[in-house]
Amino acid sequence: MITILRDIPLCDRTSFKIGGPARYFVEPHDEDEIRAAIDFAREKNLPVLLVGRGSNLLVSDAGWDGLAIGIGQSYAAVTWRGDTATAQAGVLLDSLVLQSVRHGYAGLEELSGIPGSLGGALVMNAGAYGTTISETVERVSYFDIDKSIIADASRGALDFGYRSSILQRKKVVVLGAVLKFLPGNRNRLLEVRGEVLNKRKARQPLYLPNCGSVFKRPPGQFAGLLIEKAGLKGFRFGNAGISEQHANFIVNFGGARAAEVRHLIVVAQQRVYERLGFLLEPEVIFAGSFEEPLFHP
Ligand SMILES: Cc1cc2nc3c(=O)[nH]c(=O)nc-3n(C[C@H](O)[C@H](O)[C@H](O)COP(=O)(O)OP(=O)(O)OC[C@H]3O[C@@H](n4cnc5c(N)ncnc54)[C@H](O)[C@@H]3O)c2cc1C
Repeated sequence: MITILRDIPLCDRTSFKIGGPARYFVEPHDEDEIRAAIDFAREKNLPVLLVGRGSNLLVSDAGWDGLAIGIGQSYAAVTWRGDTATAQAGVLLDSLVLQSVRHGYAGLEELSGIPGSLGGALVMNAGAYGTTISETVERVSYFDIDKSIIADASRGALDFGYRSSILQRKKVVVLGAVLKFLPGNRNRLLEVRGEVLNKRKARQPLYLPNCGSVFKRPPGQFAGLLIEKAGLKGFRFGNAGISEQHANFIVNFGGARAAEVRHLIVVAQQRVYERLGFLLEPEVIFAGSFEEPLFHP
């Protein structure tokens, strides 16, 4: 039996600390519970939202009028066999990074400090400093929501691109992955990890709730620099604002609403387009309904 909760505030489950309630919420422990949750949604004709660690999600103020499935610490086992890790989707990506580095395996060290789950990282093809998770992935297993079956795909079939993968476009629950690492020098890997964590601390407004980079990088450009050039660094709307420290971050000063963040996103899109000619594409994933449409030239 799975426990399905009602009216669970999603602001507690996103790094932005923003978002209304999910009408139903469940945190499955195994594949049977995932299947039962999907069956529940199907019977009640509810839309399904997958929530990993919520570090790339902007949930609307009205919340999610359906079933939200949290894939987090209750589904986070990792098994190592030599240079290969088999991990469930809810494990913190950074915990996997730390384990690999401590084992002296290379591949994920540049991803140190990314605050999401493995599942979210696979969906987003998370990356940093020229590395993406896709390079270490051998296979991904997932629950196909439409077919109600567990399937498995190799890296080549996942169509990984810049902050994208086929998993974003399919209706799936990512269950986990097999990751294969390269031999590395443990001390050097620990050093790289330390350097990366320091760079993050120095450049990112980690002291206020945020969702990481709000926009994808336009080819050959940096979104943050474009927003800065458009004169929006530090621009505030309500309790949200474009960070003074890094203009591709929007921060929640306390009690910000999703609509305020959405408005800042639209203002940045419009201003950058009008002044500099680049159309910024959001990297953050929107969940629920928003009144204000994104900017389209
Ligand atoms: C301070 C900060 C720094 C960041 N730095 C980086 C960075 O350097 N590089 C980078 O790439 N990102 C970065 N991010 C963004 C974010 O951490 C990544 O996108 C991360 O991979 C998202 O994982 P998550 O578990 O939080 O996913 P969520 O935010 O919960 O979800 C993201 C998307 O994945 C889907 N999803 C999540 N889990 C599953 C699952 N098991 N099955 C199916 N779908 C699922 C969700 O429905 C949603 O569409 C940063 C965020 C913050 C707050």
